[in-house]
Amino acid sequence: MKAAVLHKIKDLRVEEVDTPEIGDDDVLVKVRAAGICGSDIPRVMIYGTYRFPLIPGHEFAGEIVKKGKNVRNLKGDEKVTVVPLIPCGNCKFCYTGEYAQCPNYDYIGSRSNGGFAQYTRVPVSNIIPLPENVDYESASFTEPVAVALHGIRRAGIQVGDTVAIFGVGPIGIILAQWARILGASKIFLVDIIEEKLKVARDYGFSECINAKNEDPVKKIKENTDGGVELSIESAGSPKAFVQSIEVPKAFGKVVFLGNIQGDVTFPEKVVSSILRRQLTIYGTWNSNFAPAFKDDWRLSLHFMGIGALKVTPLITHRFKIEQANEAFDLMWNKKEFFNKVMFVF
Ligand SMILES: [Zn+2]
Ligand SMILES: [Zn+2]
Repeated sequence: MKAAVLHKIKDLRVEEVDTPEIGDDDVLVKVRAAGICGSDIPRVMIYGTYRFPLIPGHEFAGEIVKKGKNVRNLKGDEKVTVVPLIPCGNCKFCYTGEYAQCPNYDYIGSRSNGGFAQYTRVPVSNIIPLPENVDYESASFTEPVAVALHGIRRAGIQVGDTVAIFGVGPIGIILAQWARILGASKIFLVDIIEEKLKVARDYGFSECINAKNEDPVKKIKENTDGGVELSIESAGSPKAFVQSIEVPKAFGKVVFLGNIQGDVTFPEKVVSSILRRQLTIYGTWNSNFAPAFKDDWRLSLHFMGIGALKVTPLITHRFKIEQANEAFDLMWNKKEFFNKVMFVF
């Protein structure tokens, strides 16, 4: 089969490799769509994967073409999406369904071979069949959609709440759609790239602020009752971390979701106002997929299936796997505007 294999940092090669063997509790998934996550860029270009050689890719969907002999709950030809986190199943966090805290996890696309390949081996417990109306490209977004939902559910939204979202990449737009689904009355989207704000406007979000041209804190406070109920940092920018703390009103909530890039300095005035406003700050990590524990994955698929949450307008580039280096080059060197870049098979 064809795969994009990372041999060392910045050395991604498209090559012919053996189609993976599967174990008794695995299925073989024929990949149909695989998104390049923002985290794949530093993974391939800066830090490397957990081991080499390795096939990256953790946001993908496809069809089952083969199943192991212990797999009884599936026919073996289902359309599926794949949860990349493989918990150990045998620690205090796994016992309570808090897989994201498992210290001995495996991860498809960073520790084990992932979805930038024609086929990949997946443990059956990491397979989620797609509802009727979810196509492969949409389903390849289930991971970021679930991550966004998890972050929002950490803090919670009440009907009528006002929400500010910093960072309007795919995750920001998905967060805004969740906020709308959950009943937010006003949703402010903040970014410094005009094309991203245009995508937000196309989605029907009218309160878009370009932080290059105007002060988002001032603008948001002027257009609300002194601040928002919920603010979410999804840009990973040190500046946005500070601003996300500045915009909530008294007793407001802040969710830190973006992968921070660089140290953050919080001015004394801002920290003091956290106390005065009695804010609550939430960290969020990954998503839940244990069916009995606030499962973010099946709920994400449900809302995509009924058309309430749309992700395909976020796709700006579709590449064949043979063009893997072209795709990474585009994102790494920011050659042109992109949102979600994906491989289609
Ligand atoms: Zn991801
Ligand atoms: Zn565990």
